[in-house]
Amino acid sequence: MPDLVNEFSWSRSRDGLFQECRRKYFYHYYGAWGGWEADAPEEARALYVLKQLSSRQQWAGKVVHEGIEWVLRALYEGRDLPEAWLVDETIRRMRREWKASNDRQYWTTPKSGGLFEHEHRIPVKPEDWQLLRDHVVRCLRNFYRLPLLADIRKTPRERWVLIEEIRAFDFEETPVYGAPDFAYWTDSDRLALVDWKTGAPDPDSSALQLGCYALYAREVLRVDPGRVELLEVNLRDSRVQAHPWDGGKLEEIRSHLQLSIRSMKAYLQDPAANRAAMDNFEKTEDLRICRWCNFRSVCRPDLP
Ligand code: SF4
Repeated sequence: MPDLVNEFSWSRSRDGLFQECRRKYFYHYYGAWGGWEADAPEEARALYVLKQLSSRQQWAGKVVHEGIEWVLRALYEGRDLPEAWLVDETIRRMRREWKASNDRQYWTTPKSGGLFEHEHRIPVKPEDWQLLRDHVVRCLRNFYRLPLLADIRKTPRERWVLIEEIRAFDFEETPVYGAPDFAYWTDSDRLALVDWKTGAPDPDSSALQLGCYALYAREVLRVDPGRVELLEVNLRDSRVQAHPWDGGKLEEIRSHLQLSIRSMKAYLQDPAANRAAMDNFEKTEDLRICRWCNFRSVCRPDLP
């Protein structure tokens, strides 16, 4: 297999990290590079392990997203995954992963990830873990009851768009990771781009994310913004919100990406080789961000 190259790319989460703290961005995208190798330098290995940590809410969201992906994949192959089976399997999986994380196994198998709370020994009451489990189960149950799922089920499979085949698309020579969770052509011949949400709404972040989906539709599927329906599905309360879209908004997203990419590259020592030097990436002064940062033990070990 050829060596992996740390190629510059763009995503909404990368943009968010860059805005949050430049040093955190450096650790995540440059310092941790190669840390998955068993013989990686100690610092890269540690940064990679820390990079892979999730908060328990992020973990819950990931578990729900993957459960939904199983259901849709099975439907695509003509099989139905019963709700009770999915819920049981998901709870079993959560127990397994929670235990592995609590045992800090992610230090030996970092790709599997672990929980920020376990790494930093943050006490979480048993009833809070129970609430998290209930939240995941509620999201999955709500998913099965969505009228949108009934609509997807009756849509011929050739009108589904298989997102997993395209993870990144090209935007002015930069690979962009920003495909929607699911897409299909509706009865009225519009392209529905679906985003599953499990957490509290964040209008700014959602607008950028959905905008990237519209860009994906334009750049990859060659569909005009006027024919696109952006659907934000909040699985906590089964709310589906449609976001109107048009060419003007798409231009705003393009400008945002151009500016963001330019700003990130301006920090690089060698933009053509995507090479970065840590000292160019300043630490945030806002210690509230540090408190929940995966890299705090390396970057600000004295933080209480
Ligand atoms: S600990 Fe604070 S300064 Fe350091 S990387 Fe994290 S957020 Fe940035």
